[in-house]
Amino acid sequence: MDAPRQRSLHQTAVEQFQRAADLIGVAEPTRTILAHPKNEVIVNFPVELDDGSWEMFRGYRIQHSNILGPFKGGIRFHPDVDLDEVTALAGWMTFKCALVGIPLGGAKGGVTIDPSAYSSAELQRVVRRFTHALGSNIGPEHDIPAPDVGTNSQMMDWLMDTYANMSGPNNRQMVKGVVTGKSLATGGSVGREEATGRGVLYALRHWCGETGERLDSLGVSVQGFGNVGSHFSRLAAQEGCRIQVVGDHTGTIGAEKGLDVESLSTWVREHGGVAGFPDADVLSTEELFSTPADVFVPAALENQVTGPRATAMDCRLIIEAANGPTTPEAEAIFAEQGVEIIPDILANAGGVVVSYFEWLQNKSARYWTEEDVDDRLRKILWEAHDNVVARRAELRCSRREAAYAVALDRLVEVYELRGIFP
Ligand code: GLU
Repeated sequence: MDAPRQRSLHQTAVEQFQRAADLIGVAEPTRTILAHPKNEVIVNFPVELDDGSWEMFRGYRIQHSNILGPFKGGIRFHPDVDLDEVTALAGWMTFKCALVGIPLGGAKGGVTIDPSAYSSAELQRVVRRFTHALGSNIGPEHDIPAPDVGTNSQMMDWLMDTYANMSGPNNRQMVKGVVTGKSLATGGSVGREEATGRGVLYALRHWCGETGERLDSLGVSVQGFGNVGSHFSRLAAQEGCRIQVVGDHTGTIGAEKGLDVESLSTWVREHGGVAGFPDADVLSTEELFSTPADVFVPAALENQVTGPRATAMDCRLIIEAANGPTTPEAEAIFAEQGVEIIPDILANAGGVVVSYFEWLQNKSARYWTEEDVDDRLRKILWEAHDNVVARRAELRCSRREAAYAVALDRLVEVYELRGIFP
């Protein structure tokens, strides 16, 4: 299902913020600083496999900016992970955190690996060895990883445990916040697992409020049924949305009257993907894009919504649950057609917001209720959407440009006040 990577993703990411920087007149050296990651850590490490052989792995941690707070962002396990991808993803984290107004910076990590091809014991050794190789490049007040594509709470638990064991006995209890997205029992936050999907639903609700649309009248197509797409689909279906087409790496399925998302979630847990789900039509990958829908939610990888696919699509709103799913060609086509895009740094910010809550809870050793988490998440995201809508009206620009403008307003102010060392 993956489209080939045609151009540097980092270049696309830089061009996105530069357009907003032009609109609001961001001066040098802030522009150039933000076009480069601050630190690039690349590690190669060997891991013993179950059959006694060894394999070398390459891991990355790209730290884009810590001007607003500690570096923050997920760790991806995927065969396509490379320096260019992780660099782009790190930059998007900086703008995402600035946009929603949380005191964190931007980073991203990854290991070039297909996690489905390894046993749980092998993955545990990869996570532990990667954490060891990163060493003091991460830390609860320095750089805080989290889950991303191909990683989960169990892996974050192993990361935290490894880091704790590398810390002196006096610090061992204070380092829980070295990573977020942990399991509840090891210091995770309630609501973290579904937070990104919940945030995507708030994006849809906000748009409904703006346009007068009703959630229960909308047909939605979703690409990806993993960490984000599955929770979004479940929550949206609970509010009456028709989830009419779902595609993932195993196939695409659809049902005009809407899929039974609860049963689909169970099926995917047991079978590893949507393919073979009964009570649904089997569709082609291209039909995932071309089947008419009110809303299309890309919740998989970057560069999935390409120019040709955008031309074939028939929808009114794209909510970017994934990071960087829309190519610049597709974006130009949507602009011409009047198709709205709620950009990634706004649409999928729910995950990092609840990561921030988890980090605060770890620092204070006091744990919040689900109600606390959901209330605070909703307030933060709602305000961010309101700010983007207001900035858009002032600047007469796209939602993406307005989102970057709000983020840049905050970043530029801090750069100006702090100045450039020395
Ligand atoms: N990987 C998620 C993202 O792209 C979450 C990052 C985090 O929680 O730090 O936003």
